[in-house]
Amino acid sequence: MTFADVGLSDELLRAVNESGYNEPTPIQQQAIPSVLMGRDLIGIAQTGTGKTAAFVLPMIDILGEGRSRARMPRSLILEPTRELAAQVAENFEKYGKYHKLNKALLIGGTNMSDQIKKLEKGVDVLIATPGRLMDLFGRGKIMLNGCNLLVIDEADRMLDMGFIPDIEEICTKLPANRQTLLFSATMPGPIKKLADKFLSNPKTIEVSRPASSNALIDQRVVRVDARKKKEALTQLLRAENVKNAIIFSNRKTTVRELATSLKRSGFAVGQIHGDMEQPERIRELERFKAEEINILVASDVAARGLDIKGVSHVFNFDVPWQPDDYIHRIGRTGRAGATGVAITLVTSADADAIAAIEKLGGGVRIQALGGTAEAAPRTEPADEAPEGAAKPEKSARKPRGRKPKAEKAEAVAQPEQFERPERSRKARPERTEDRPADRKPAQAETEEAAVAQDADEEWNGPIPSFLGAGFGG
Ligand code: AMP
Repeated sequence: MTFADVGLSDELLRAVNESGYNEPTPIQQQAIPSVLMGRDLIGIAQTGTGKTAAFVLPMIDILGEGRSRARMPRSLILEPTRELAAQVAENFEKYGKYHKLNKALLIGGTNMSDQIKKLEKGVDVLIATPGRLMDLFGRGKIMLNGCNLLVIDEADRMLDMGFIPDIEEICTKLPANRQTLLFSATMPGPIKKLADKFLSNPKTIEVSRPASSNALIDQRVVRVDARKKKEALTQLLRAENVKNAIIFSNRKTTVRELATSLKRSGFAVGQIHGDMEQPERIRELERFKAEEINILVASDVAARGLDIKGVSHVFNFDVPWQPDDYIHRIGRTGRAGATGVAITLVTSADADAIAAIEKLGGGVRIQALGGTAEAAPRTEPADEAPEGAAKPEKSARKPRGRKPKAEKAEAVAQPEQFERPERSRKARPERTEDRPADRKPAQAETEEAAVAQDADEEWNGPIPSFLGAGFGG
């Protein structure tokens, strides 16, 4: 099937062609014709499947056809994070270059008066995070009753971040007979309920992440002493053939500390977390994309769904609290046919979290780095980083205070059967990022804490279909 077959306009076909895409991805093939026909849609799809274009492309044609110089916005795209919203805006720019559509990006951390000025001039599409949208609506700066097309993207993430009450409220402010498209990587109960309430006779499309992309990720665990995680990570960054890497941590404070520590060790490092101002986050991302830095330390929320191509390694400095987050994290590598490596540092307290991840992956055991459970981990000398290993910044001095080799080898401990964690040592999640401080804790956050607390409880979450035989590397 070609893009011409899915019913897009010539202008759009030209823009798509210039983007270098040869054929629509499965979600695009299935979604675009239905959206063009005006149907509601539930898209169960992860980032990396081409889902953004699956809604942006038909939206552009719908808006292009019915163009009127109305001041009221005609469509609304809701995104859970500022970065994702900015990414969707970029997509609009790219695909909509031959259409004269006006968009407003309404996200926190940016100048509200500029956004208001834009709104006053009249826009066709609003691309917003719920918080800023509600804020502007509350100030009487936005009319939503002309929005006949609504996209709720990354709905499961919205749930994690406590945005569902906002989404429900926003839905009630839009025309009842609008077209609604909802995208989510998973369909937990509250999202199903939301869809039942606000979508009418939707077509459901479920696409798996291309099986090959999962098979292309070599997933490994490295058993470490909790006090020696930084040393272990530093050693791995030197020993592994790291072209560029994203390192995930569960806490914003750890993101900051780790970035500082790695920088001090001579690595070219950036960071991205929810406490950073928007321009700063974007700057860090741009530096990473431009290869000025090759290591990005990130928190889940800030990195969710970011389209960064060609990442050779993902490191989980902390095992994520939610198994789903593991999938999202490792999905940053092994994209678009490229191979990737995902390495997770595991302490004795992480046994249950790893078991939950393995269960989500169909029970396939994630092997220890080095091949088999018996194999010793790699312990290449830190001073002689192999070619292509994470490169230190040009100006970087030689790291001081290196540990003797024997001690370094210990930091990456021998793989062994995990111990059961002591409950009291279980980590508690920080306040979810990007959620206004005055809001009640999200249901999912409470669930997240419950998962962390109740180690004996089985993971009963949804098992995405994309977890095929490829899982487990
Ligand atoms: P998404 O799932 O929306 O995050 O998209 C993932 C990546 O796939 C983005 O870099 C898109 O530019 C790219 N992409 C989207 N559609 C296609 C296509 N039909 N062919 C090739 N790449 C695509």
